[in-house]
This record gives sequence, structure tokens and C-alpha cells, in this order.
Amino acid sequence: MPWTCPCGASNPDVNRFCGGCGKQIAETLIPTPPPARFPRWGIAFLILLGAVICVLLSLRVASGPSTSNNEQQADERANVTKAKYNSVQAGMSYDQVRELMGQPGEEISRSEIGGYVSVMYIWKNSDGSNMNALFQNGKLLNKAQFGLP
Ligand SMILES: [Zn+2]
Repeated sequence: MPWTCPCGASNPDVNRFCGGCGKQIAETLIPTPPPARFPRWGIAFLILLGAVICVLLSLRVASGPSTSNNEQQADERANVTKAKYNSVQAGMSYDQVRELMGQPGEEISRSEIGGYVSVMYIWKNSDGSNMNALFQNGKLLNKAQFGLP
């Protein structure tokens, strides 16, 4: 298309410069390009980044708080103290001891010899301190502790 320079000169399509004033066509008539749009890969990257953040947030919501709750509960349950150890007396049943300790013990051995059933339980703290108790036919026979607070 022929173009008209702001100076008033009419120029054929093939001219890159105005025949009247010599200005370059680019400076006079070619409209300024629209502002650069965000490149496609940039949009894709932002969507991906958003998705990753969403996943991280949902993971945090799903597992983060509940995990720390579980740890707190475990810490409370694992609160084996010397006071509790001292309150456990020979002759008590396992149920009584479990009540005093506030949690079931972990059975670590069981044997039956000559009609005597011997079961060893251990109550452990997360730091490794522990109490163990030997029950014979359901009655506490022996107890021992290691490093209880
Ligand atoms: Zn011109």
C-alpha cells in the first residue's frame, strides 16, 4: 500500500524512506509494536510453579500438622518416669501396671516353663530410658529401669 509521510509526501509501497523528507518508514508509519506479551514458556512456567506451590501447601496441610500432633502424642505416651516406675509394685497385674504407666508396654519376650508363663514388657522413652517388667502368670515378679527421668 502506498503510504503518506507526516510531512505530506506520498510514497510507493516499496520505499523504505520518505521521498519528501528522507525519514525512514519505520520511524513514521509503522505502528509501534504492541507491548511484548508474556512468552508462552513463561506462562507455562508460572502455571507449573503455581501447581508445585499448591502441592507443597497441600502436603504441608495434609501431613505437616498431623505429623507433629502424632509426635506430641507419642511423646506424651512415652513419658515413662521414675515416679511411675516406683509406683509399680510386685504382685500387680499387667492391667494395673499398664494403668499406672498410662500406656501398654511392649512385649519383648514370653516363655512358658513348667506351667509358669513369663512375659517381659518394656516401656520406653524416646531418649532410650526405659522400664521393663517381668510378669509371671499375670503378676509382676520383677522390674528394672534404665535412666528414667
Ligand atoms: Zn516525509
